[in-house]
Amino acid sequence: GFRMGIVGLPNVGKSTLFNALTRTAAAQAANFPFCTIEPNVGDVAVPDARLDKLAAIAKSAQIVPTRMTFVDIAGLVKGASKGEGLGNQFLANIREVDAIAHVLRCFEDDDVTHVEGRVDPVADAETIETELIIADMESLEKRLQNIVRKVRGGDKEAVQQERLMKAALEVLEQGQPARVVKVDAEDAKAWRMLQLLTTKPVLYVCNVDEADAATGNALSAKVAEMAAAQGNSHVVISARIEEEISQLDADEAAMFLAEMGLEEAGLDRLITAGYELLHLQTYFTVGPKEARAWTIRQGTLAPQAAGVIHGDFERGFIRAETIAYDDYVALGGEQPAKDAGKMRAEGKSYVVKDGDVMHFLFNT
Ligand code: GDP
Repeated sequence: GFRMGIVGLPNVGKSTLFNALTRTAAAQAANFPFCTIEPNVGDVAVPDARLDKLAAIAKSAQIVPTRMTFVDIAGLVKGASKGEGLGNQFLANIREVDAIAHVLRCFEDDDVTHVEGRVDPVADAETIETELIIADMESLEKRLQNIVRKVRGGDKEAVQQERLMKAALEVLEQGQPARVVKVDAEDAKAWRMLQLLTTKPVLYVCNVDEADAATGNALSAKVAEMAAAQGNSHVVISARIEEEISQLDADEAAMFLAEMGLEEAGLDRLITAGYELLHLQTYFTVGPKEARAWTIRQGTLAPQAAGVIHGDFERGFIRAETIAYDDYVALGGEQPAKDAGKMRAEGKSYVVKDGDVMHFLFNT
């Protein structure tokens, strides 16, 4: 599955947010730095109103949403790349996630200590990015030395790696994240293999006070400006509200949201934004037993999409019977869609579209 790492300085609200996300008390929030030492991992259902609609039409007995994994990565402080705080441990944890949700403190509260003694989310973002940039530079410098001999020997792969590493180092040395480097299609794989921290896509999460949840505030506006300049996205969330909502049932939560002037829980927006950030999309399998959502990368072909369900589906793939979500809903289900000629037979080169209702035929 896809993994999103929650990072940020101590006391910005990471644990509060993670708790709300996973609805457990596993990652205890506490008002002092370094309280969460082990990375906490939680699986979260991806909200999707389309799934409920399909299930209602097909009278499915069960609804199974697709899931995304969140990892609460604590210990990031100034000097972390030099081993301060929890140092290298957290760097290893970041290497293992597909994207970063970077939580920034956009609330004032004298009772909550700030590690730098001031509330400035833009400066906090720079502090953390600097640590990631330094970590990338150090790992690249080491790896460049390790391949020197291969490069001299004319090893093609090593030559390519060296060229990409040097391109990354050049921007990192200017204080820029490696993600600004433009990479050609033929270099894309080798570039990914470098596994740099600063090539991971970033979503800024502005954690604001309850009162500012619907509108944002001056601090979150500054983050929005910074994110736009970098080409990154951001969401405004009140981790405390989300924590409260996570303890309510669905009806109570809807009432609470309405009272706060919010249309949708911040967590739903966060998960949706994460989905977009990772260029993910959803397809569905729908029947009387269950309606289920599955996650794939945009551009995935039908056999590989089938492989998400089971490896045998991919290996023995014959064809897919496909109904677009809009057709399925407009015509009122599989049989009427079929009768209207809206069920298509698609082969191995079919690029699955977001919302497709799929039925795979395969050899065993
Ligand atoms: P972490 O170190 O980043 O995981 O931060 P925590 O989630 O442990 O939060 C640190 C402290 O800040 C806790 O006492 C939280 O209750 C508090 N906190 C979190 N979000 C908010 C917020 O939006 N407003 C206020 N006033 N306090 C918050």
